[in-house]
Amino acid sequence: MASDTGPAVLPPDSHVHSQWSWDALAGSMEGTCQRAVEIGLPAVAFTEHADFTPWSLGPGEKIPGEWRQLVSDGVLTPPALDLDGYQDCLRRCRERFPGLRILSGVELSEPHWHCGRAAALLRDGGFDRVLAAVHSAPAGTGFTVVSDQFRGQAPAQVLRGYLAETAALISQFDAFEVLAHIDYPVRRWPQDARPCDPCEFQDEYRHVLRTLAGAGKVLEVNTKVPLHPLILTWWRQEGGQAITFASDAHDPAALAAGFADAAHMAEAAGFAAGPRDPCGPWGRNSFPA
Ligand SMILES: [Zn+2]
Ligand SMILES: [Zn+2]
Repeated sequence: MASDTGPAVLPPDSHVHSQWSWDALAGSMEGTCQRAVEIGLPAVAFTEHADFTPWSLGPGEKIPGEWRQLVSDGVLTPPALDLDGYQDCLRRCRERFPGLRILSGVELSEPHWHCGRAAALLRDGGFDRVLAAVHSAPAGTGFTVVSDQFRGQAPAQVLRGYLAETAALISQFDAFEVLAHIDYPVRRWPQDARPCDPCEFQDEYRHVLRTLAGAGKVLEVNTKVPLHPLILTWWRQEGGQAITFASDAHDPAALAAGFADAAHMAEAAGFAAGPRDPCGPWGRNSFPA
């Protein structure tokens, strides 16, 4: 469908990072709110990183200078979220942008490996929106970021491992609302490999989607790379009830990037904005699946 006839109102951006995420070096909560008002976005959720898993850097891996203080013996330990600073900033932005709905949030990395820390953060944070996602994978005696796995494994193996770990997360940890970026490894799919065809991984995707639907959770449509429409079709067929939209922006300019196309795709797959709360997740429409 043409992308120049966007929806009347863009969906809320339910997954955005600001300067309170340790890896968002160009992040700005205030700048993102300003941008949201400019483009007519109804709501934005600042879902800052809570990355509990330290990861080993790959051989020769380059990192921004700001992160060097986080590295010891080749292992990068992400810092804890500064909850007080984050909440103060959120309050200031809500005062300054009264017409914009600003949701608090967090993106929990591998919370099923860190249940105690995740539970403590959720208790202290009282977040409006809780995302969960896998970003890391076991490697040797430690862990690595998922994208590093492409160095030593076939792409199909990386994606299968990712989906299996994601299913484990859903089964072992319940205190979240939305599964973020189900297709995360596709972002770093090797350019010299055959393009990723989701049909080759249909069983694995469907297993994750069925587990997620059974747990009553929401599937995120992350626009960093366009989600393949088949995955939304499978989500509906497996009983999925709701979706959110996510730019996963780490700077204000990327807010709601790709949302018009994503909204069209979601409508074609059988989802629509909720009639009561324009800031909430989209639900199923009457489209016959
Ligand atoms: Zn993420
Ligand atoms: Zn994110």
